[in-house]
Amino acid sequence: MNSAGQSFLSLSPVQPASSLIAAQAQSLDRDLSRASPAEIVTTALHEVGRDSLAVVSSFGSESAALLKIVAEVDPAIPIVFLDTGWLFPETLAYRDTLTNLLGLSDVRTIHPLTETPDNKDKDRDLWFSNPDQCCFIRKVEPLTRALHPFGAWINGRKRFQGGDRASISVVEADGGRLKFNPLANVSADELKALYATMNLPPHPLVASGFTSIGCMPCTTRTEPGEDPRAGRWRDRDKIECGIHVATDIAKSP
Ligand code: SF4
Repeated sequence: MNSAGQSFLSLSPVQPASSLIAAQAQSLDRDLSRASPAEIVTTALHEVGRDSLAVVSSFGSESAALLKIVAEVDPAIPIVFLDTGWLFPETLAYRDTLTNLLGLSDVRTIHPLTETPDNKDKDRDLWFSNPDQCCFIRKVEPLTRALHPFGAWINGRKRFQGGDRASISVVEADGGRLKFNPLANVSADELKALYATMNLPPHPLVASGFTSIGCMPCTTRTEPGEDPRAGRWRDRDKIECGIHVATDIAKSP
């Protein structure tokens, strides 16, 4: 089994991106290297059409800016929200708040396969004993399934977040899909300025010291001066959940 737990559900690694998708991603990335987030979302929409484009959002502490930009381009673009079964109730409430406030008309909440967490995580302690497998059954597999109908997806990673994110392109080939990162180029200060102009409510947990918010067992508060993501999987040898590693399901549902 690899570190992402891929033998857990008999997934197969995605086939290498087709040369067509790879070439398209490279060309778009060149064209959009200095584009604004809104221009990148608009281009994604024009490139594949609304029915083939999904935004993946955690409705976390840094989700509102991208969702507002998307809503201003087209509030009917599908938004995929992954409910792992371990989310804070405040996150579920924030999803509803932003959905209503921004007029998002196609927010799709997806869940892990019912039988999988029950069978593989009966005691709900997999997050402790094997967080890679937990992320796999609660995040990677459901998201892979949810993205199956789409030809492209948008997410909110930024280079300034560091780690594996420090070198992301604006447009990538993700298996057989295009993957757009409209905030890749945005600096922390620019993002702060963006929020200042948007006048959007913060995630309810930000006020109590959470700067990056995921599942309850794997999220802690951060101290002033700490990396905003330092509270995720604290003291564990893990910094990402695995959804940004290209995988695909051998047989679609
Ligand atoms: S973030 Fe934690 S609880 Fe959530 S899926 Fe990953 S390991 Fe499990």
